[in-house]
Amino acid sequence: MIVEMIKGASPEEVDDVAQRAKSLGLNVQLNIGTDKTVVAILGSNTGQLSTDLFAILPGVERVARIMKPYKLASREFKAEDSLVYINGIEIGGKRIVVMAGPCAVEGEEQIVEAARAVRKSGACVLRGGTFKPRTSPFSFQGLAKDGLELLARARQQFGIPVITEVVDPHDVSLVSKYADILQVGSRNMQNFALLTSIGRSKCPVVLKRGFSCTVTEWLTAADYLLAEGNNQVILCERGIRTFEDSIRFSLDISSIPVIKSVSHLPVIVDPSHATGHYSLVPAVAKAAVAAGADGLLIEVHPNPKEALVDGLQSLTPSDFARLMGELRAIAKSVDRYI
Ligand code: PEP
Ligand code: MN
Repeated sequence: MIVEMIKGASPEEVDDVAQRAKSLGLNVQLNIGTDKTVVAILGSNTGQLSTDLFAILPGVERVARIMKPYKLASREFKAEDSLVYINGIEIGGKRIVVMAGPCAVEGEEQIVEAARAVRKSGACVLRGGTFKPRTSPFSFQGLAKDGLELLARARQQFGIPVITEVVDPHDVSLVSKYADILQVGSRNMQNFALLTSIGRSKCPVVLKRGFSCTVTEWLTAADYLLAEGNNQVILCERGIRTFEDSIRFSLDISSIPVIKSVSHLPVIVDPSHATGHYSLVPAVAKAAVAAGADGLLIEVHPNPKEALVDGLQSLTPSDFARLMGELRAIAKSVDRYI
């Protein structure tokens, strides 16, 4: 249920709404907009409660039920676009934010080379996995804490913020000491213990779409982060599993405008995991920008042939530099910039 306050409602009136909800055993989340405040009333039995319980209170303009499983990620709760700030970089505004780097941190030289290259071409966030969720237990699992140390060194040397994945709720406090953005991988989109822990950390987070999950399930997972008071949430479309086997996954390009219409959260696209092949990454990256994505997450490796993970889908630094030039032109044509 959402309670929309009138323009200029006093803090006491907003508080009365919150107190009534609490007296009924419900939780609240406030969206304090520039214009008016919206109070989301959250609980498992709000459907059984009369809207009059809130409509009658002073300062209330309208009470409505959100007929969707997700509440806090919805435009009904927050009509204006959410912006996420990473070291002064705005995500969700006019700028297309490019995050790039290797799939996994493999060693000092590799991550430093990658950071130098992607920074030079205009990426504003460095990616690098140190806890890798691998399909096989026998594959390289990442350098864990040692990898975080290397990432921190590259971050310091090049003054570039970093994004890295966290796979275990117990590692959230460790990883958030090093990372500017935590990444929730596709396989963990519905790991609710992990989402709750990241929600509590209040650290900016990129929530990848589960490759077998609908947009509704994805946004409902985002509610786990938002419900803990973490509103620094960025969604990432990375392709879904379909019958098509000529590519690694099928990029659901239409999820970008769908998200934009039903949610206020920024959405970026990962063309690397979607396609699985370096030759397909540029076309898909350009399509994503044209379709309204707020950013890209791209795998770039100084030497893809030697990569321990995902070499086939990684761009070389020179391919990445070329792609950035092409993306700038696409961004301009949709009134954005990189
Ligand atoms: C990754 O970005 O390193 C990754 C493993 O991606 P995904 O979770 O989308 O498969
Ligand atoms: Mn990868």
